[in-house]
Amino acid sequence: MSTSKRLPIAGHSSINIRNLSIKCGNCDTYQTLSHFRPRDEWNVYTYECENDICDPEVTRTYVEVPAELDEFANRDPTWHGGKIHAGAGGDHEH
Ligand SMILES: [Zn+2]
Repeated sequence: MSTSKRLPIAGHSSINIRNLSIKCGNCDTYQTLSHFRPRDEWNVYTYECENDICDPEVTRTYVEVPAELDEFANRDPTWHGGKIHAGAGGDHEH
C-alpha cells in the first residue's frame, strides 16, 4: 500500500470558475455569478442567490481565484468587468 500518491496537477494547475458550483447553504440552490473584479493578485467572483428566499446582501459569496491560475478570465479577457448573464436586473457599473 502506497501513501505516496502524487497529484498530477502539482506545480502547474489552473482553475476554471465555470467548473465550480456555488451552492447556498441557506436556500440550498445554486448561486449565480453576478460580478467579477480583479483585486491585486486575485480575481474575485461574486455569487448571489436569485430567488425570493435569500437576501443577497446576506448570502452573497465571494470566490477568490489566484489570477495566474484563473483559466476562465484568461480565456475570456473581454468578459472582464462585464456580466455573463444578460438577463434582468442591471446594477452594472462601469
Ligand atoms: Zn440562498
